[in-house]
Amino acid sequence: MPSALKLVDNPEDIVSQSDYIAYSKSVHDYSPAVRRLLDLSEDYVPGAERAFKAGHPAVWCQALNFVPPLLYSLGVIPVAAGEMGRYSSKEDMLIAEDIYQFPVETCSMVKCVVAQWHKRLNSGTINRILANSSGCEPYNMAWEIVKKRGYDVYSNEIIYRGPTVEGERLEQLIKFTTGQILDVAEWLTGRRQVDDEKLSLEIKRKNRLLGKLKQVLELRRSHPFYMKTLAIILTLNVGLNNYFGKPAEYEEAIDALIKELENTPISEKDLKTVIPLVWAGGTGQEFGIYEAIDQAGGALLGLRSVPFRLYREDVPPLEALARWIYDNAGAGAGVYARNVIDSEVERLKARGVILYGYIGCSFASVDREMWRRYFHEKGLACINLEGSFQTGAPTGQVLTRIKAFVEMLAA
Ligand code: SF4
Repeated sequence: MPSALKLVDNPEDIVSQSDYIAYSKSVHDYSPAVRRLLDLSEDYVPGAERAFKAGHPAVWCQALNFVPPLLYSLGVIPVAAGEMGRYSSKEDMLIAEDIYQFPVETCSMVKCVVAQWHKRLNSGTINRILANSSGCEPYNMAWEIVKKRGYDVYSNEIIYRGPTVEGERLEQLIKFTTGQILDVAEWLTGRRQVDDEKLSLEIKRKNRLLGKLKQVLELRRSHPFYMKTLAIILTLNVGLNNYFGKPAEYEEAIDALIKELENTPISEKDLKTVIPLVWAGGTGQEFGIYEAIDQAGGALLGLRSVPFRLYREDVPPLEALARWIYDNAGAGAGVYARNVIDSEVERLKARGVILYGYIGCSFASVDREMWRRYFHEKGLACINLEGSFQTGAPTGQVLTRIKAFVEMLAA
């Protein structure tokens, strides 16, 4: 697996997202496990594209929720399309706006992904896209547009669970979703069925890893600065969902990380100076924000997007996938997600909440504004940031705001 060729040990030399990863590796020179996780993250998209060209099935998708366990059980690599954002630039914005006629104000994540798919047209790389029509309108538009260009797009529907949906209504939803999952299996393999044994193994793997990542988060409470912000975000928000396309390697790296954390002496000074923070919202590719948090002395100890509920192992595996979606607020009203943030704040005695989303996303900005108001009314410091998705440094304004926020909490 390629390691970063460029050595970046000074944050001022960073000009791209690859540089941020290379810099993060040099910062973590004491931790082979963290460096290994960063290697895996760096090779996720290139590795999946290499595997596809070598004959291994792979599809672009959101690589969340039920998708990775299902796809791995079917022998297909789930490739998170959003991860292509790190290769994007202003040129990608222009491709989306000029060739595909996206309005300028459209969410930058969608524009980056569409432009990256555009650049891959007829290149012999992964050409199937598993979409999800209950994502958001800009993404729905993106999938329709690239379908016309020749991608094989299949869109499934996951129905949102409203705040009062329980009992019989919830059971109907589960049944509907089970059918949707079988439809996806049929699109991928030509057969409307899953292999129960393989799917059970994937569910066990996921449950095992959820337990291990929970252990990592617990250990980070006594070692808040061992794993810096970019590394933990990539490990949890991307790796835990899809294992960077390499499940066994990912699990080995997590095992090694747990050992390192267990064997590292606790620093009383770190525990006195740390400013525990909870992150909610998107994470994306503006890696400079994470560096700003580190430099200001903050430590992201809680992330709302990390799912902790286990998959049920007492029901058939297909049903377990469907139940997990609704149990985990992965498809639910904003209040479910807010409850997760709330419990993370309590658990970690967090001093502040950082809400982050992308310019042009009306979809998630409503949730974030509701959460911000809720936490302010509770008397907890909370900042709501908007950034862009394509690579390059974050704007000075975003960096100044985040530094000022963390430094205010320290004061
Ligand atoms: S940031 Fe918002 S608009 Fe953009 S893809 Fe995500 S949900 Fe859709």
